[in-house]
Amino acid sequence: MRKVVIIGIVLLTVVMLTLLTASWLATDPETEEDAPRETAASTDATVSPQPEETETPTPTPSMLAFDRTDWRLRLVNADNGLPADFAVETAEVEGYLFDARAADALQSMLDGGRADGVDLIITSAYRTYDYQQGLFQNKVQRVMAEQGVSQTEAEPIAAMSVARPGTSEHCLGLAVDIITSSYTTLDSGFAETDAAKWLYEHCAEYGFILRYPEDKTDVTGIIYEPWHFRYVGVEAAEYIMENGLTLEEFLGEA
Ligand SMILES: [Zn+2]
Repeated sequence: MRKVVIIGIVLLTVVMLTLLTASWLATDPETEEDAPRETAASTDATVSPQPEETETPTPTPSMLAFDRTDWRLRLVNADNGLPADFAVETAEVEGYLFDARAADALQSMLDGGRADGVDLIITSAYRTYDYQQGLFQNKVQRVMAEQGVSQTEAEPIAAMSVARPGTSEHCLGLAVDIITSSYTTLDSGFAETDAAKWLYEHCAEYGFILRYPEDKTDVTGIIYEPWHFRYVGVEAAEYIMENGLTLEEFLGEA
C-alpha cells in the first residue's frame, strides 16, 4: 500500500513537471520569437505560417535598376552643368538638330501624334552652349528692363525660365520643345491643347518624359513647361511617367 502511494506521488510529480515544462515552453516569449524561425523553415510550414510571412522583408517600391553612366539618363540642371566644350553627334529631325541616337525616337513620336490626328511642331531642340548663352543674356536684359532690377538680381529670375548656358537640357541634345499650330506660345496655357494632352499621355511610349511638371518646380527649379520633353529611353520613361517623378527624383538627386 505504501509503495503504491509513493509510486502514485512520483507519477503525479512527473506528470505535473511535464505539464509545467510544456506550458512554460509555450508561453516563454523568447521561445515564441525564436522557435518558429526554425520550425517554419525546417519542419512543417503549416504549423506557423505567420512567422514565415513576417520574416520575409516587405518589398518596398524601389527605383528601377538603372545604369548611372547611361547617356540617356544624364542629368543636366542648375547643379549639373555641361562643360562649354560638350559635344554630341546630332541628326536632323524636321529642320532641328537632336542627339543622333534618339532622333528616330523623336521622329516616331511626332509621327505617332499625327497618326492620332494631333498636330505637333518642333520649336526648339539641340542648342549649342553659345546659343544658350545668348538666350540667357536676352532674358536677363528683359527682366532688368521689365522689373527695373540690376543684372545680379535679374540673373536668378531669368534662370527660372531660361537655363544658364551649360545647364540647359537643350545643350545635351535630348530635349525638345513642341508646340501646335493653334497654340504657339510657350506658356502654361499650352497644357490645355490636344497636342499637350497627347504628348503627356503617349510620350513615354517613345522614351520621352514631361521634364518639368506643374507640381515639381521646387524639385526641378524650372517653371511648369508642358511643351518640354526629354528623351530618357522607354524603360525609364514609363517608370517616371507612371510614378509622377522628375528625372532628379528618379536618379535620387532631388
Ligand atoms: Zn525646352
